[in-house]
Amino acid sequence: MSFSYKSSTFLGAQGPWEIVIGLEVHAQIVSQSKLFSAAPTSFGAAPNTQVSFMDGAFPGMLPVLNAFCVHQAIKTGLGFGGHINAVSFFDRKNYFYPDLPSGYQISQFTHPLVTGGFLDIELSCGTSRRLHITRLHLEQDAGKSFHDLYPHASAIDLNRAGVGLMEIVSEPDMRTIEEAALYVKKLRALLRCLGTCDGNMEEGSFRVDANVSVRRPGEGLGTRIEIKNLNSIRFLQQALAYEIQRQVTLLEANTPFVQETRLFDAAKGETRSMRLKEDASDYRYFPDPDLPPLVVDDRLIETIRSQLPELPDEKKARFMDTLSLSSYDASVLASDLDVAEFFEEGLTYLKQASPKMFANWLMGDLFAALNRDTLSIKESPVSPARLSGLVECIAEGIISGKIAKDVFGEMWANDGEPLALIDAKGWRQVSDPRIITDAIEKIFAQAPDKVGEYRAGKDKLFAYFIGQVMKEMKGRGNPDLVNQLLKELLDN
Ligand code: ADP
Ligand code: MG
Repeated sequence: MSFSYKSSTFLGAQGPWEIVIGLEVHAQIVSQSKLFSAAPTSFGAAPNTQVSFMDGAFPGMLPVLNAFCVHQAIKTGLGFGGHINAVSFFDRKNYFYPDLPSGYQISQFTHPLVTGGFLDIELSCGTSRRLHITRLHLEQDAGKSFHDLYPHASAIDLNRAGVGLMEIVSEPDMRTIEEAALYVKKLRALLRCLGTCDGNMEEGSFRVDANVSVRRPGEGLGTRIEIKNLNSIRFLQQALAYEIQRQVTLLEANTPFVQETRLFDAAKGETRSMRLKEDASDYRYFPDPDLPPLVVDDRLIETIRSQLPELPDEKKARFMDTLSLSSYDASVLASDLDVAEFFEEGLTYLKQASPKMFANWLMGDLFAALNRDTLSIKESPVSPARLSGLVECIAEGIISGKIAKDVFGEMWANDGEPLALIDAKGWRQVSDPRIITDAIEKIFAQAPDKVGEYRAGKDKLFAYFIGQVMKEMKGRGNPDLVNQLLKELLDN
């Protein structure tokens, strides 16, 4: 069996299987109060301190729809090109769970607020794909149960009960694990940019359920398995890979399986059965009699549309058009708000260096260092101004790109302005032809035989001379000038 995150087929013992993935994302709406009550929503408050009578399902309490949550959902729908429905309805989805005191969740089933839409993703191979969104609907979040706090009892925290969620459901459009991961990243970046969800997967404000099936090429859709509540992109990828192999193994052994919901055990790297998948009919959906239809007029939609910020795709296009960046570079820089901000601030300090050069340092050395030290770009010890200053030093010929790496390391570890550091360390590049010529002549005197061999036609030795001269000059020779002078002196 062979398999990569980029492959759309899984090669089983009996031949290839196609992978089909569809994702459901539960995104907590950024809002100070809950979807149908005035209780606050901040994360991490003491248990059961943010629960109104409505959230606790006290008898006789009525839901009052939070208009701001609706605006946030409309904003999100417009952000991915969805259609905002003028009329949508709230339904009750009935099920029993201890952290759901009312015994039903208010959701939108038959008529969601948003239908359709898409996200374009950029694959690592350079092509892009359009992945379609089926719907976005509003619903309440449930409370949280804790089964590991007390030996003989479970604990329930209702702070989260009633917090507004946008459930965003994709079409079964993804064909590789890479596409699924890119969809999630793209959606999260969009919601963050819009300010409608903070996208925090660890705290559970952006949760992914992955649906996956396999089929022999040319066949219709296979039986899907839903993997619930994946709270990191790495877990999403691992869970999908495990699940695809498991399904193929079962199908090739002629043991068909039924649709079910599974959980991913990150410690074991496996999925395991949680429950058989309910059908919609099991939930006995019916229109919530406490809530009138949600009517949205065109004026509101147009007002919200006119207030949309620059979206990641628009930012990407701007970077490509005005800065001549490649599609890949532009999409990396535009996809994350903090990265884009760092990049754009850095650009303002550039004089001679090109945006492309600055982008390379940002996506190369800076990203590598952030990764190594697990820091976010906001925590970077090297500021946009300093990174920009460093790149300027290269562009202005003050240091070589190679020395710049050392300066970067110094700035990262010990702080300091690039120019001051360069001078303190005596790292300024030497562009004085006399000094370079002296160094070249010293090397020639040390290895006259090599000079002879080169002049007799052994061109390859040129790199050797470059290396020796640079070493002699402690890496500080201006590379272009060293190259030029060496050529002249050797060819004489
Ligand atoms: P439910 O609430 O029952 O999970 P939804 O309609 O909300 O159903 O979501 C179904 C999800 O499963 C969608 O994202 C859809 O794209 C995906 N899906 C449907 N059929 C398949 C399939 N055969 N293989 C993979 N994904 C599928
Ligand atoms: Mg669903």
